[in-house]
Amino acid sequence: MNIGILGGGIGGLSTAIALKQEGFDVSIYERHTKPSEIGAGIVCWPNASFILEQLGVLDKVAKVSGSINYMNRFSSTGEPIGSLDINELSRLMKYSSYSIIRKDLMNILIQRTIELNINIHYGYEATKISNENLNTEVLFSNGKRIQPDLIIGADGRMKSLARKYVSGSNAPIYQGFINWVGVIENESVNFSELSVSDYWGVGERFGIVPVSKSKAYWAGGAVSKNINEINPNKYKTELNSIFSGWSDIIAKVINGTPQSRINKIYVHDHDPINLWHKNNLVLLGDAAHSPLPTSGQGACQALEDAWHLTRCLKANINNLPKAFLSFTELRKTKTSGITMGGRQLASSIFNQDAEFCKHRNIASKNTNYQNAVVGMAKGWSSGLPISA
Ligand SMILES: Cc1cc2nc3c(=O)[nH]c(=O)nc-3n(C[C@H](O)[C@H](O)[C@H](O)COP(=O)(O)OP(=O)(O)OC[C@H]3O[C@@H](n4cnc5c(N)ncnc54)[C@H](O)[C@@H]3O)c2cc1C
Repeated sequence: MNIGILGGGIGGLSTAIALKQEGFDVSIYERHTKPSEIGAGIVCWPNASFILEQLGVLDKVAKVSGSINYMNRFSSTGEPIGSLDINELSRLMKYSSYSIIRKDLMNILIQRTIELNINIHYGYEATKISNENLNTEVLFSNGKRIQPDLIIGADGRMKSLARKYVSGSNAPIYQGFINWVGVIENESVNFSELSVSDYWGVGERFGIVPVSKSKAYWAGGAVSKNINEINPNKYKTELNSIFSGWSDIIAKVINGTPQSRINKIYVHDHDPINLWHKNNLVLLGDAAHSPLPTSGQGACQALEDAWHLTRCLKANINNLPKAFLSFTELRKTKTSGITMGGRQLASSIFNQDAEFCKHRNIASKNTNYQNAVVGMAKGWSSGLPISA
């Protein structure tokens, strides 16, 4: 069976690796002309670490990432309002949690595709998917066409052609807030504890995820009703005006980050869908389910898809519809739950009512984080052979 994957992001690369390791003939078609360096960082939670091990890259990931210990929550002025023990989460799930710069994770996955002789065709932007004679055909902007036995739509959340082909619509839903994301790498900061810091204000939030003592990625979030023009020259001014008066480390992080390493994202997701395939095309990663960053699980779930889809195909090699249905059945409840959980947390974090936020912070302070860790471990382990 020859397989074409649309999209060379985390989902496409990891799926290609998982499939090739099982002997499938697989090629990737990516619209960009070279690997993308966009994005800040990702926490590979233990469920993702298990998959990265299966893909043969966990050791490399561990070498360039941070093994994070706690997720500490604060009010905007720095008052502690709760702490989640990530070591306990890792202990329950039997794998560590790694904070990694997105570019580094991409490089490791690309290196693995090279080791496995997987073809990545850059400069192939899919522009049309059709199925005039049952076998789906993909047309690219460079005039090339492919008609493989199986097509995997891993073309992301913002304009997935594959999602449009399967479900008729691919318009993501703007969730009413902006994330400025950045990477700081210099000696002016010292993240000796390697713990996540998450500051909650009223309609605003700032999170810092250390990767090493002097390197971290961060995200500043704020409510914005409209999607306005993006001007990189204004990013620092915008951030400094929103987060002035917050904990000192925030100004330090914003001002210590080069403008070139800051991006501004109007954050979108999708409603869950029940059908992830049509003819011989199946969706995965953000094209199938794209939870908000507040879920912390987008990339982790794309990785899980890679592993599950490969197993479903192996078990149903001569029956694609059955493979697709069992894949969707295995994945849909978990991914929908994560999408809805991401929305719920976002609606609390980005709430603009000061009274609500005061009570939210008190509730956070009174939360039993030991129980919360047990719940997270159970949810994130589901469907995987890891203990919780
Ligand atoms: C601000 C922010 C913070 C995040 N933080 C985290 C986190 O801490 N932890 C986590 O697990 N996840 C996080 N995520 C989510 C995570 O980045 C995504 O869920 C993950 O990258 C999904 O992988 P994917 O391969 O499905 O999509 P993508 O990584 O978006 O890859 C899609 C690929 O398809 C290509 N493509 C698109 N259209 C076409 C086309 N027509 N033809 C060919 N190629 C095409 C794109 O160029 C891209 O390379 C975050 C997301 C955001 C926005």
